[in-house]
Amino acid sequence: MSQADAIQNQKTYDVLSLSRRLIRFRSVTPHGDGALDDLQALFSHLGFTCHRLVFSEPGTPDIDNLYARLGTKNPHFCFAGHIDVTPPGDELSWTFPPFEGAVHEGYLYGRGAADMKGGIAAFLAATSTFISQQYGNIPGSISFLITGDEEGPALNGSVKMLQWIAHQGETIDHCLVGEPTNPCAIGDMIKIGRRGSLSFTLTTYGKQGHIAHPHLAENPVSGMIHLTSALLGISLDNGTDLFEPSNLEFTTIDVNNPAKNVIPAQAMAQFNIRFNDIWTSQTLEKKIRTTLEETKQKNHLINYKLDCQSNAEAFFTPPDAFTKLIINAVQHVSGQQPELSTSGGTSDARFVRTYCPVVEFGLTGGTIHQVDECVRVADLYDLTAIYLRILESYFKLDDASSGASGSKPG
Ligand SMILES: [Zn+2]
Repeated sequence: MSQADAIQNQKTYDVLSLSRRLIRFRSVTPHGDGALDDLQALFSHLGFTCHRLVFSEPGTPDIDNLYARLGTKNPHFCFAGHIDVTPPGDELSWTFPPFEGAVHEGYLYGRGAADMKGGIAAFLAATSTFISQQYGNIPGSISFLITGDEEGPALNGSVKMLQWIAHQGETIDHCLVGEPTNPCAIGDMIKIGRRGSLSFTLTTYGKQGHIAHPHLAENPVSGMIHLTSALLGISLDNGTDLFEPSNLEFTTIDVNNPAKNVIPAQAMAQFNIRFNDIWTSQTLEKKIRTTLEETKQKNHLINYKLDCQSNAEAFFTPPDAFTKLIINAVQHVSGQQPELSTSGGTSDARFVRTYCPVVEFGLTGGTIHQVDECVRVADLYDLTAIYLRILESYFKLDDASSGASGSKPG
């Protein structure tokens, strides 16, 4: 890469150059395309010790991940992110090529600009400045947990990296996930938790027959209507102070019956529930099964099967001194009072939360996973300034009297 030598001679990194450099790798899950080799060189240049962690799982592609740590002591601040991106879709429908990193009228375009190569670049740029300010002496440790499997099945990335780190006897005290959390402008929103996600497949079974002789058949579509109506009738909860109400959505109902005169043999539906911390996957699955069973008894012809897959439990990090530190840094740079939220989809923070307090803050997410994904160049510099402020504040909290250390769960 032509920029490589130039950057290798610098002690501090520029966030826009770094973002463009990372966007140029076609690191669509599960392919790394050399992006982690490049990041590793940049980390090593700053004095980080790097580990490449390749993980496997039957039925999924092997994934290459990178864990880089500077320092051996605690407190240990970890930045977590993903280098993988979603496919660009039809590249010709992009205004600028998705893996070029074009800058136009104050915006940086490219797949991963916001989600989340720009976030990684901002943290790396902030860290390089912080190290330079400290003359290389960090009162603790800074690490980067960079997975290649966030947009994919997420089985061979953060979840296994965190297990590996714990197995080495290392403890992370606090973690910031650099996902694009802001709806519109830098400073809008910090995520302190996420809803859980539970997916279901419901199949109803009947007996195929002529539509003119329904007494000789059994209609699984009628059964499906009874069961899905009952599910839609459930009132799960009204939400909590920190969470929206839990919500059930059907994604498909399929019969695949092309004949107009045949009662089909079976019907299938899929639905997903995004749930708050009133529920766990277990209590929610029980609620669904009870509802279906009661409906079945009222309409005793229905035979059905329910498969359930838990994707994530709901969680939140109670606001504390660490959260306050992040809020203060965001306010200082952006002038905004960020909302504390648990909205949106799942993220790898769900894996981190069992190890240490975790919050998420990054770029704006309005164009992620879309054609013409982009981010304001000014936002990249603001985010870098916020991350730098976070590092400066965090490493003043260096003993047990600090709120950050005190917030560590037992
Ligand atoms: Zn992301």
